[in-house]
Amino acid sequence: MSDKHYSFFGAVEKSFDKAARFTKWEGGILDQIKACNAVYQMRFPIKRDDGNVEVIEAYRVQHSQHKTPCKGGIRFAAEVNQDEVMALAALMTYKCAIVNVPFGGGKGGIKINPRKYSAYELEKITRRYTAELIKKNFIGPGTDVPAPDYGTGEREMAWILDTYSAMHPGEIDAAGCVTGKPVSQGGVRGRREATGLGVFFGLREVCNMPDIMKRFNLTTGVEGKRIVVQGLGNVGYHSAKFFQDAGAIIVALAEYEGSITNPDGLDVDEVFNHRKNTGSILNFPKGTNLAKNTDALELECDILIPAALENVIDGENAPRVKAKLIGEAANGPLTPEADEIFARRGIIVVPDMYLNAGGVTVSYFEWLKNLSHVRYGRMEKRFNENMNTHILGQIEGLTGKKVIEKEREYILHGADEVDLVYSGLEETMITATHEIMNEWKNNPEIPDMRTAAYVVAINKVGTSYAELGIFP
Ligand code: NAD
Repeated sequence: MSDKHYSFFGAVEKSFDKAARFTKWEGGILDQIKACNAVYQMRFPIKRDDGNVEVIEAYRVQHSQHKTPCKGGIRFAAEVNQDEVMALAALMTYKCAIVNVPFGGGKGGIKINPRKYSAYELEKITRRYTAELIKKNFIGPGTDVPAPDYGTGEREMAWILDTYSAMHPGEIDAAGCVTGKPVSQGGVRGRREATGLGVFFGLREVCNMPDIMKRFNLTTGVEGKRIVVQGLGNVGYHSAKFFQDAGAIIVALAEYEGSITNPDGLDVDEVFNHRKNTGSILNFPKGTNLAKNTDALELECDILIPAALENVIDGENAPRVKAKLIGEAANGPLTPEADEIFARRGIIVVPDMYLNAGGVTVSYFEWLKNLSHVRYGRMEKRFNENMNTHILGQIEGLTGKKVIEKEREYILHGADEVDLVYSGLEETMITATHEIMNEWKNNPEIPDMRTAAYVVAINKVGTSYAELGIFP
């Protein structure tokens, strides 16, 4: 469902220009912030399992090196093209700036439908792609660090690490060349669910703002909110799950083969398992099929979370969307036309470039773990538990009262890696939400939250360039 001649990078530039006039930076600096610094387009052959040779088209884009390394996922999708990878790389620059992750933006893409390749073929493609990146110095812990995105996950990241390590024997920080790895390969606990958890933390913070909720006649907090999620992949599944666990009602879920609804709520795990067992989200026993997979986007709900791909809501279907808040879990799910329609209708769009920053934030934690060569919590967990035991013993001794068992466990517990990762992510998303909202509230001329987010990002990247001394 795409607007004619739609350019994703063009849409990012349009949003950038809309925001730039609210910043202090002059034209040249703005041009440099906006420009894609390096685009690497490659083609390489692989031999398919049937013996045929196929030429694969792939990309890596480094949008900005105002901080290094560059950072951004690698996607496997049939629609990958240069414009898309450039747009996603640019979003990464702004995303990292907003959440104070000291990286420049990058992105990679391989133009394949992963469902049409065997695991062995995918491994060959991933390893060859990594080798091509190494040849041109487009990967490394200090230059450019990929991560998972649409169609890729821990398995592909492990192949990338293995290829990189094999070609850099003895490089002590090699594990930092890619993030989103399995924990056994230097990954960090909590990375898998990080983007969905970040989406939840960001939207929860907006739901906790009384003035915003009052605007929509909603109570504050997440509990009881009616949610629709599109895409039951890594980001969509975890977003839906965290909302359900917090007491929200998942009224509809959409996948590419169709969508289902239940006004009393769908159980995310039950739907996930149903899809795993039957190969489809449809015909879920405790739900009703909708005629088209896009129908879910137009259902009555409080929060709509598109978590599949870009460009799914445009000028054509935006007028029919009934949500009060839209949480952009996917990158670029709305076209600029849709954005304008929602701004006119008073619908708040919580923008992709910060809402789905949970992945890169926890990737940053993973990269730091790789460079420090020590698991989070290893040094202090036991010390804190011993200290907490001592303090509690003193309190109980002095008061003559015993703390109940559940509280005791909670107080004594020293932080594990996953606790620290969740806590670091929560702090990051709460801070970013307030920074953007304050920018929006302090300047009534800023038309929407996306523009406010861009203003925050442009100011940070602009300051960074200025302080680098490039612009005397
Ligand atoms: P994924 O491959 O794990 O899941 C995507 C899901 O969307 C799949 O289940 C797919 O079947 C489904 N889908 C595809 N087309 C659909 C359609 N038309 N309608 C409904 N469902 C459809 O990918 P992901 O990692 O969850 O990424 C999803 C989005 O989130 C992408 O835009 C990606 O760029 C963005 N994102 C991902 C991460 C991350 O950490 N994985 C981080 C930031 C942003």
